[in-house]
Amino acid sequence: MENQISKNSDVIEKNTSNPKDAAKKNAPSAMKSSQLMKLFEDELKDIYWAEKALTKAIPKLIENATSEKLIKALKTHLTETDGQVARLESVFELMGKKAEAKKCEAMAGLIKESEGIMADCEEGPMRDAGIISAGQKVEHYEIASYGTLCQFAKILGLKKEGALLKLTLDEEKMADENLTNVANSEVNIDAAEQPAKI
Ligand code: FE
Ligand code: FE
Ligand code: FE
Ligand code: ZN
Repeated sequence: MENQISKNSDVIEKNTSNPKDAAKKNAPSAMKSSQLMKLFEDELKDIYWAEKALTKAIPKLIENATSEKLIKALKTHLTETDGQVARLESVFELMGKKAEAKKCEAMAGLIKESEGIMADCEEGPMRDAGIISAGQKVEHYEIASYGTLCQFAKILGLKKEGALLKLTLDEEKMADENLTNVANSEVNIDAAEQPAKI
């Protein structure tokens, strides 16, 4: 593995010192774009997998939650998430590609962690606080992903695609804010009042 990394970096160094490749650097942006296009498509597949996984994971969070405010926030976001899956399918369609999912290891990990948190926290304010903490990590991952996708779409000149992705980005930001509000207005206060078990 180490060998391969150093081999790769050798190639990179060689490429940059080659005058032909130096010219490539200043080539029309279409060339750079095609590389970015590939990354854009890969990231789309990644977040498509993630959103689909969330449509199955959020119901488990809802089942485990007790705070009415938290349940409401999660239900709202579950509905939005269904819409986000459909929106991603529209993005693929606009690009003339079929919607394809590629496993997002990060989201798989975040979902797995949320299951661990729920198992470790007793039902009630404690578990609610844990669900919010897990949920906010998910939202932040999504905000990072959609933020990047929006920037890529802009550079690639994908206006319609970018506009759709921005709608989702705003929903993710709102979902994160809603969870903060639920935590601050109710759940964290209740959880802090729970006596610790020895
Ligand atoms: Fe989402
Ligand atoms: Fe990912
Ligand atoms: Fe973690
Ligand atoms: Zn979300």
